[in-house]
Amino acid sequence: MRAIIIGAGIAGLVTARQLGLAGWHVDVVEQSPGPRDAGYMMDFFGPGVEASERVGLYPRLVDLAYAVEAATYVDSSGKATARLDYERFARAAGGKVLTLLRPDMELAALAALDDVPSGRLHLHYARRPTGYSDAGGTVAVDLAGTEPARLEADVLIGADGIHSAVRGALFGPEERYLRPLGLRAAAYIAEEPALAARLGRRFVLTDSLDRTVGLYGLRTGQVATFMVNRETGSPHADDAPTRLRQDFAGLGPEVDRMLELCPPNPYDDVVAQMVMPTWHRERTVLVGDACSAVSLVAGQGGSLAIAGGALLGDLLGAIETPDQVPGALAAFEGHWRPVIEDAQASGRRAIWMFLPHTRRQQRVRRWVLRAATLPVINTIVGRQIVKSIAS
Ligand SMILES: Cc1cc2nc3c(=O)[nH]c(=O)nc-3n(C[C@H](O)[C@H](O)[C@H](O)COP(=O)(O)OP(=O)(O)OC[C@H]3O[C@@H](n4cnc5c(N)ncnc54)[C@H](O)[C@@H]3O)c2cc1C
Repeated sequence: MRAIIIGAGIAGLVTARQLGLAGWHVDVVEQSPGPRDAGYMMDFFGPGVEASERVGLYPRLVDLAYAVEAATYVDSSGKATARLDYERFARAAGGKVLTLLRPDMELAALAALDDVPSGRLHLHYARRPTGYSDAGGTVAVDLAGTEPARLEADVLIGADGIHSAVRGALFGPEERYLRPLGLRAAAYIAEEPALAARLGRRFVLTDSLDRTVGLYGLRTGQVATFMVNRETGSPHADDAPTRLRQDFAGLGPEVDRMLELCPPNPYDDVVAQMVMPTWHRERTVLVGDACSAVSLVAGQGGSLAIAGGALLGDLLGAIETPDQVPGALAAFEGHWRPVIEDAQASGRRAIWMFLPHTRRQQRVRRWVLRAATLPVINTIVGRQIVKSIAS
């Protein structure tokens, strides 16, 4: 049987591996010329841990992970106001929390395709679909540019992220399903070896209202940063570096230095969840952020992309004839929707903890984090934090 997967992000690659191992012929179409290096640090815990162990990805993720000692909140003079010890955070999350760059997670998923016997998987980078159809028991995708101009298969999988074109073409416009959370996030990596050395193994976050910046030093001497703020309703500057300088200046000299180093086109997008009444129709299904983005406030997007991709690949991989495709897609949604709805709800609940809006919320967050360092109650508080962000 044949599958077409649009999008070679984490969800698309994991689905492709599982289908390839089950004997399917899989075409993966990705618009970028190669793996994307746009990156930020992600905490990896929750359902993706078990799934990545099952599909052989976990050891690769462990190799690429960073050993984070603590998340330290600092004021604008750099003085620490609160600290979360990662070992305790990991213990509360059941012992397995990895911290790694999004592009490294994508590269691990790509490397895991080597497990698939040759000839079954075709990765088409730098190819843009121009049309999708799902009719008469066959799906088809037309492609711009060189050969092949058209792909046909038994199932079409939209793994093309939160702004999915497959969803737009076959399920309706984005505005119908996108639930903005009132925040905006940017992320990039810049060369700053002196700052990377000062950060050491700490993940440093600004303890500020309505906006926060996270900084982490990489092995390469670069610094990974993410910047998140509350939308005010005013129009944004046309270019992202100007917007970021306007929105984040004054949070301390290290943040100001990172703002100077902002590349021309950093990742810069609305923070939103994707809520759809159904994720599949006929022989088309969506997976990952395309149908079920939980947003960075839930902290599990990468983990859920792996677990969702593995589940979809395994359920489809178990069928024997093309007429069983619709049943497998319904089973996927039936199993996976409750997990996503839980993660989305706990993400929404965690917004104030991630980005306090009032002095009171800021004080409560400091208290919760300080309490987490006391030996007796750290486990209880740690569990509460994990529960509020991981459900
Ligand atoms: C700032 C930030 C911090 C985050 N922190 C965390 C965290 O701590 N922990 C965590 O687990 N998750 C985190 N996430 C979320 C996580 O990155 C995503 O949820 C996850 O990567 C989703 O994977 P995906 O494969 O579904 O989609 P994507 O990674 O978006 O992949 C989609 C792919 O499809 C391609 N594509 C798009 N359109 C087309 C098209 N028309 N044709 C062909 N290809 C196309 C794209 O180029 C891309 O390669 C964070 C996200 C952000 C923004």
